[in-house]
Amino acid sequence: MTNTPQPPPSHDLVGIGFGPSNVALAIGLREQRERAAADPAAPPLSGVFLERQAEFGWHRGMLLDDATMQVSFLKDLVTTRNPASDFGFLSYLHAAGRLHDFINHKTLFPLRTEFHDYLAWCADRVGDQVRYGAEAVGVEPVRDEGGRIAQLDVVARTADGAYHRSRGRNVVFAPGLTPRLPAGARLSGRVWHNEYLLQRLEGLDAAPAPRSFVVVGAGQSAAECVEHLYRRFPEAQVHTVFTRYGYSPSDDSPFANRIFDPEAVDDFYGASTETKAEIMGYHRNTNYSVVDPDLIDTLYQAAYQDKVKGTERLRMHNTSRVADVREGPGGVTVTVEDLAGGKHTAVEADYLVYATGYSAADPRGLLGELAEHVVGDSEGRPAVERDYRLATSDEVTCGIYLQGGTEHTHGISSSLLSNVAVRVGEILDAISARTGAAVRPEEAAAFGR
Ligand code: NAP
Repeated sequence: MTNTPQPPPSHDLVGIGFGPSNVALAIGLREQRERAAADPAAPPLSGVFLERQAEFGWHRGMLLDDATMQVSFLKDLVTTRNPASDFGFLSYLHAAGRLHDFINHKTLFPLRTEFHDYLAWCADRVGDQVRYGAEAVGVEPVRDEGGRIAQLDVVARTADGAYHRSRGRNVVFAPGLTPRLPAGARLSGRVWHNEYLLQRLEGLDAAPAPRSFVVVGAGQSAAECVEHLYRRFPEAQVHTVFTRYGYSPSDDSPFANRIFDPEAVDDFYGASTETKAEIMGYHRNTNYSVVDPDLIDTLYQAAYQDKVKGTERLRMHNTSRVADVREGPGGVTVTVEDLAGGKHTAVEADYLVYATGYSAADPRGLLGELAEHVVGDSEGRPAVERDYRLATSDEVTCGIYLQGGTEHTHGISSSLLSNVAVRVGEILDAISARTGAAVRPEEAAAFGR
């Protein structure tokens, strides 16, 4: 008698990634199960999450000392979906014994380190649903008796090199953002992306301390890197290179901020391609290539004090671009081209930091043969339904949902925290509705169908 391998247990959803979006989903799942326990008509949903990292971590390399959140703490993982949840930031503060101190602080914008601690506190409390150290490397279709793709197996590689399958009637992708580099740029021991800034700086404080850095970009990450390097290495020169004339402030005025509201997702989703492009054009400066005005003031003050002292440690190469990078044993020679005057300047630096932004992952990279079932839009991007389900051929009856990577369909809040709480509610409602409508495979088996 041959042994047939047992199929893995089937879940209502398998989450890929366990950053803030899928932690919020795990909280939503837990709250859904608590409601279902009190309401026999609502079937409880089961879920499991896979995370490549060994423990929860969110942009750890940018947890700089004084950096604050750019979004109100009220846009935490739950409050805008369920203000009564005990997973809100205020519950965290209460548990940490800092609620009154925070109130006295009179701010909506906690330190990033504190918000990271909040996220880790949430992740820990729903940690029974996650498998850490498991990197999703592929998704395989599981067909029902009618030949339709009714479930998916997510194949994950674990730290010991073993492979593991998680089966779900739905998969929710939340792989996060990938550091973006200029074409042709290559990372090395001296050339970094800001994503890993703090890790790369470890051990550099000891003598001989670095003498010179180049930071490329003019967004929030670039400005934070410049400020951190300038302050941390008081003997070093910090060169900034960007194509703008000067750092530009982020627009967080109240009417413009409505672009991050849940209603804006409806408006954006229903708009024509032309109108979508216009909205993004008008309001790009709420998020991209912009800097918090207080930080701009801090940097200006530093540059001015340099002038007074005649030191010029902060060297601005505005309307400029990096034309060439040569790495040698002792450092990096960065050729900076002044786009206004055409002059080329060779800057000798110990380290070059690209703070050139992030890209959202395309889920089709993981989908293998399933990718051919994904409907594409006129520009080849994946089409996504309003409930964040990837549009697929009718052969696919399971759900593939996206958290992130939907800026082209759902707007600018796609990769941000602003709308996470409401979005996971929408995804869970969609999955609940589909679960209620469909007879689950194991129930079908139980009924002999
Ligand atoms: P970003 O806003 O996309 O800015 C990227 C910068 O790099 C821009 O100045 C861009 O210039 C430049 N750039 C892009 N490609 C380039 C190329 N090939 N060559 C030269 N320059 C290039 O990215 P970010 O600053 O990392 O910010 C991303 C998000 O993270 C934002 O939502 C931001 O608020 C958030 N963030 C938050 C915090 C915080 O909470 N404290 C800290 C850091 C970041 P162009 O304008 O010409 O494209």
